[in-house]
Amino acid sequence: MSGIYIHIPFCKQACHYCDFHFSTSLKNKDALVKSILMEIDTRINYLPNKTIETIYFGGGTPSLLSEKEIFQILEKLYKLYNVSNNAEITLECNPDDLSDEKLKELKRLEINRLSIGLQSFDEEELIWMNRAHTAKESESSVKRAQDRGFENITIDLIYGSKFSNLTSWKKTLDKAIALQVPHISSYNLTIEEKTKLGHDFKVKKEVAIDDEKSSEMFLEMIDRLEKNEFIHYEISNFGKEGFFSKHNSNYWKGEHYLGLGPSAHSFHGTSRQWNVSNNNLYIKYLEEKSEAYFEKEILTETERFNEYILTSLRTIWGINLDYIKTNFNSDFAKNFLNQIQEYIKQETVTVKDKTYTLTEKGKLLADKIASDLFA
Ligand code: SF4
Repeated sequence: MSGIYIHIPFCKQACHYCDFHFSTSLKNKDALVKSILMEIDTRINYLPNKTIETIYFGGGTPSLLSEKEIFQILEKLYKLYNVSNNAEITLECNPDDLSDEKLKELKRLEINRLSIGLQSFDEEELIWMNRAHTAKESESSVKRAQDRGFENITIDLIYGSKFSNLTSWKKTLDKAIALQVPHISSYNLTIEEKTKLGHDFKVKKEVAIDDEKSSEMFLEMIDRLEKNEFIHYEISNFGKEGFFSKHNSNYWKGEHYLGLGPSAHSFHGTSRQWNVSNNNLYIKYLEEKSEAYFEKEILTETERFNEYILTSLRTIWGINLDYIKTNFNSDFAKNFLNQIQEYIKQETVTVKDKTYTLTEKGKLLADKIASDLFA
């Protein structure tokens, strides 16, 4: 199972919390799409003999692309790669872009999974985040997509801003459940240094919500969503049976993937590479046929092990001892078994059939436990 990720680095406006790579100037959109088409040609041997099971348009805001632009990218991928007939094709979109016409286009393009970044149903909070859509559009976009026949929809929600408390979060979750989407991704708001929010925090115009409140909201989310048939299959992701994200699950299971577009990452089993996070340079290097558009590192055994721990501990598939024994030298399994005992004792990790997963208590400490287990 392999996947292809395409990064579309444009947004209508900059959300105040976001540190992804994007530009709010769309003037290079044509040239950038051309460069992505060139990169598709150039990278033809990156996933040799692999069947492509997932294609994911992320960003940025891929719903800013025209039908023709998305078609050109998909057409080239289908022509040059062995894309499975029932591949999962996801496109991230913002609620304000999902007009009836846009949804018709996406249907024609055979996009079969929509990831709608609605983030909140609260008008004041959306304005504070500098989102480009209204609270009304958060809801209506999902309903419009469902009316157009999109079944496989995921929505993004953010919790932990100064506007959220346990009472308002319960209402948000109930609204999300009522929308009857089969998948929800939800993230605790983090204050990133190079963002407007990061700046405001630094000059004390904004304060961070305390960890205890965020933890309460996180646990409430698990409880409410699990009572409504959602499976908590990764720390930030909940899906109903049959609706887990195949694309992201592949990342977490260590499958290979090709990343196209500025800032996109690719993984090849033993090496990782990432494209330059600069639209002009990306376009320039591809035009010049220069390899300067990416950097590459060969992963050491320790790096591969740490990556495995970090990604698998966050999922319901967990860390498997036999996998460690098969893929790493015997010291890794020995050290892992020594270190994990403490977490089993603390009841933050549980073990069944040589597979170690986080308990509810452990989910609150996922990053800390993973870094303690690093080689
Ligand atoms: S639309 Fe998405 S990628 Fe663009 S600035 Fe907002 S959060 Fe970031």
